[in-house]
Amino acid sequence: MTPAEHLALPNVDDVRQGVITARIAAHIGDMVKNNDRERDLDMGRARRDLKWDRMYELAIDPVHARAVRNSRSPEDSEACTMCGNYCALKIVKQNFNFER
Ligand code: SF4
Repeated sequence: MTPAEHLALPNVDDVRQGVITARIAAHIGDMVKNNDRERDLDMGRARRDLKWDRMYELAIDPVHARAVRNSRSPEDSEACTMCGNYCALKIVKQNFNFER
């Protein structure tokens, strides 16, 4: 199903969004049915460690993830524009060693 369902003939972007949404739903199903959580745990660790390239590798839609981040470049390349200099993950990373 695309965002254009019953509104208009879907265009390429609508179809792309529909496919990504279906992939997210399938991933949730895999997590619940098969207890397949390693990818999400890896994503959590990548986020905790502010490893942006690893986050893109694990993202269901890495192209969109990169585009969002690149469209709002933070002053501090380690953080994002949400909290900026007050990035809690960066502060924790500077004060604790959780790397595995
Ligand atoms: S700036 Fe805030 S939202 Fe962005 S990575 Fe750091 S803690 Fe997360």
